Amino acid sequence: YFVEPVAGGATNGYTPFDVQAVRRDFPILQERVHGKPLIWFDNAATTHKPQAVIDRLAYFYAHENSNIHRAAHDLAARATDAYEAARDKVAKFIGAGASSEIIFVRGATEAINLVAKTWGVQNIGAGDEIVVSQLEHHANIVPWQQLAAQTGAKIRVIPVDDDGQILLDAYGSLLGERTKLVAIAQVSNALGTVTPVREIIAMAHRVGAKVLVDGAQSISHLKVDVRSLDADFFIFSGHKIYGPTGIGVVYGKAEILDAMPPWQGGGNMIADVTFERTLYQKAPNRFEAGTGNIADAVGLGAALDYVSRIGIEAIGRYEEALLGYATQALRAISGVRIIGTASEKASVLSFVLAGHTTEEVGRALNEEGIAVRSGHHCAQPILRRFGLETTVRPSLAFYNTCAEVDALVAVVKRLAARR
Ligand code: PLP
Repeated sequence: YFVEPVAGGATNGYTPFDVQAVRRDFPILQERVHGKPLIWFDNAATTHKPQAVIDRLAYFYAHENSNIHRAAHDLAARATDAYEAARDKVAKFIGAGASSEIIFVRGATEAINLVAKTWGVQNIGAGDEIVVSQLEHHANIVPWQQLAAQTGAKIRVIPVDDDGQILLDAYGSLLGERTKLVAIAQVSNALGTVTPVREIIAMAHRVGAKVLVDGAQSISHLKVDVRSLDADFFIFSGHKIYGPTGIGVVYGKAEILDAMPPWQGGGNMIADVTFERTLYQKAPNRFEAGTGNIADAVGLGAALDYVSRIGIEAIGRYEEALLGYATQALRAISGVRIIGTASEKASVLSFVLAGHTTEEVGRALNEEGIAVRSGHHCAQPILRRFGLETTVRPSLAFYNTCAEVDALVAVVKRLAARR
């Protein structure tokens, strides 16, 4: 499909991508900040919403709003149909075998907590081991620590090399008969490293461990196929793939979900209740107690439709070209140190600038209308691996342009000259 000309009109052999047409789909990109056009390079924190998603939410509230499953009237049927259609869209988008393998939750954080507090409590005991990588977001560390504290299990950590890539040999040596779970990000939110999850999963399965893939950062950049990866769990947040906040997904293999106890109790998740005992629904309803985030699930479905219309592979190719362009330009500035230099990367460019704090760089960019994250990115262990507490983190999406990268580079160059 695309690729915006990156230098001298080169298009990497693909039909040029009409980034301006995509930008027109995102009303917020017309905003001005400090009198300058907004440049949104905080996509790893959250992404903006295309008009199609905004319209879908408005349509739901104007024409379909109702609670689901419980009431026998027309609007309940409309809301239920829309909600279940969204579940089907998620299943198709990530290559799940069935919609019943998709549980709606609030986001990636809640998704990991659900797995820790259901499957984890049931399957992990004293002396068992949970393997995570040094790259993980706190959301994929803390729930496992809590589980370990509760059960007497141990956390083992896969180290990374100086480029920020997983050391597969070291990983192999951590695996053993005590390994019950490997929890690993497919893309690091702090460095952008794309981890070799296919190999990681295959190696874990050889010792009988299950694997949870944290897809919070990969879902909007790479084609995900949970069955081809053979992931046991795959989780992500809707708001990082152009969908609403407050909606996220747990994918789990049917046979695993069927054997998992429920987490929260209440309405929706039960088949029958007496004061003596409760019979639970099957998955996924067993894990969706109470009134869920119906409208935002429907909005997520619209976001996945939007992404699918453009094509996730095409999006990935465009972003790769843009990331290459931005990396080259930043690397050329004296005093810039890029953190995370793995050959496989997606979207994220973490850096520090000699002579300036990351807050100063973030503030200078903000004054020009350029939004980046400066901080620890909820991934303190990996920044400390590189001797840092914080970095500046521009993160790219398919509505960003080379001209926007140029604007960021100009600010960093100006600061660098003032060292
Ligand atoms: N995992 C990764 C890799 C992330 O980047 C994030 C958010 O930044 C999360 C998990 C948590 O996502 P949320 O805050 O949407 O629950």
